[in-house]
Amino acid sequence: MEFTSLKGFKDILPEESARWQEIETKARHLLSAFGYQEIRTPVLENTALFSRGIGQETDIVSKEMYSFEDVKGRGLTMRPEATASVVRAYVQHRLYQNYPIQKLYAIGPMFRHERPQKGRFRQFHQIDVEFFGDPGPISDAEMISLAMHFFEAIGLRELTLHINSLGCPDCQPEFKDHLKVYLADRASDLCPDCQIRAQINPLRVFDCKVETCKSIVQNAPTIPAFLCGNCRDHFDSLKAHLDGLNISFEMNDLLVRGLDYYNRTTFEIQTEHLGAQNAVAGGGRYDGLVKTLGGPDHPAIGFAVGVERVVALLEASESLEPRRPELFIAALGSKVRLLTFQWTTALRKQGIWVELDYGGKGLKSQMKKAGRLGARNVLIVGDDEVAAKKAILRNMETREQMDIDFETLISTLKEML
Ligand SMILES: [Zn+2]
Ligand SMILES: [Zn+2]
Repeated sequence: MEFTSLKGFKDILPEESARWQEIETKARHLLSAFGYQEIRTPVLENTALFSRGIGQETDIVSKEMYSFEDVKGRGLTMRPEATASVVRAYVQHRLYQNYPIQKLYAIGPMFRHERPQKGRFRQFHQIDVEFFGDPGPISDAEMISLAMHFFEAIGLRELTLHINSLGCPDCQPEFKDHLKVYLADRASDLCPDCQIRAQINPLRVFDCKVETCKSIVQNAPTIPAFLCGNCRDHFDSLKAHLDGLNISFEMNDLLVRGLDYYNRTTFEIQTEHLGAQNAVAGGGRYDGLVKTLGGPDHPAIGFAVGVERVVALLEASESLEPRRPELFIAALGSKVRLLTFQWTTALRKQGIWVELDYGGKGLKSQMKKAGRLGARNVLIVGDDEVAAKKAILRNMETREQMDIDFETLISTLKEML
């Protein structure tokens, strides 16, 4: 019986993994320059962490989580996103104790039980970036510029940055009251989900994908008109800092996060690549979450990048050249095979990709194998070469050949390859 992977779960095959490595390597490099350190949290957590940390009435928590009971009847969940886990770890290990500013990132798989469709998976991957301990707005601008630099570094272009401010506990309630009244007047035209949202958490109506809800939202009161003086100053300063870095942005009044602990800066980076509007990263300030999850009242801001989407966009725009061995060693005769095996190992220790023939075939067959692997060079060693103590190095692209003395072989190859 042959097995296949679960629906919505995908193997990342060798031909794709090079792209993943490239994205992750560039992300780690850039994050490190911005002072971020990696945190690795478990994929399994208490279900309550996510219902508190993401919100009981969100689609993620109510419909999409992989939740189950373990043998002792404890409610567990495969993490559907990273922020709640990172905040849990920040609080549990008192990461703020020694240094009040903590910049953390996590890269890994997330799990959501969504209907599988093109480009969406039940196990998907995120690069998650969180900044604790500063209320902004400089940290907000720094984070947004980090996200933009990342996409620039990996070669993703035609990006649009959308920003909005969600206000604070001083000014958000008044806006919500106005929004509730506006939505209540139009309740009969809202979808059933939004009729409930309109009462519990009206901001979430902004995220609805149903057409009638979308058009109702278009004329709804928006947050900017209600911002208090402090929030307006914060937002203006963020914009000034983005201008200072020559990062262009669009103000998007409809960009929201529907949970109480989200406040002030919210942003999304979209690409118009391939025609469709797609968010490649989204984030924002969540000053209330650390406290909600049992920690001190520390401000925080974060964002996440969907790796699958980035991979798909890059794949469509340029193909990666497959990796090729620098050297194939074609050894002829059992006597030389131990010697060339030693050379192979010595060169690999220097970080050079060397391949060899494992079976003891003839020269023609070994050359064919070297060609199939795309080896850039072949080192030929037979009885004549052993007698002369010189191996033949052939450049497979130029077809040029040269002799290399056995004695200095490793150092010569190390320099050349
Ligand atoms: Zn405010
Ligand atoms: Zn709706």
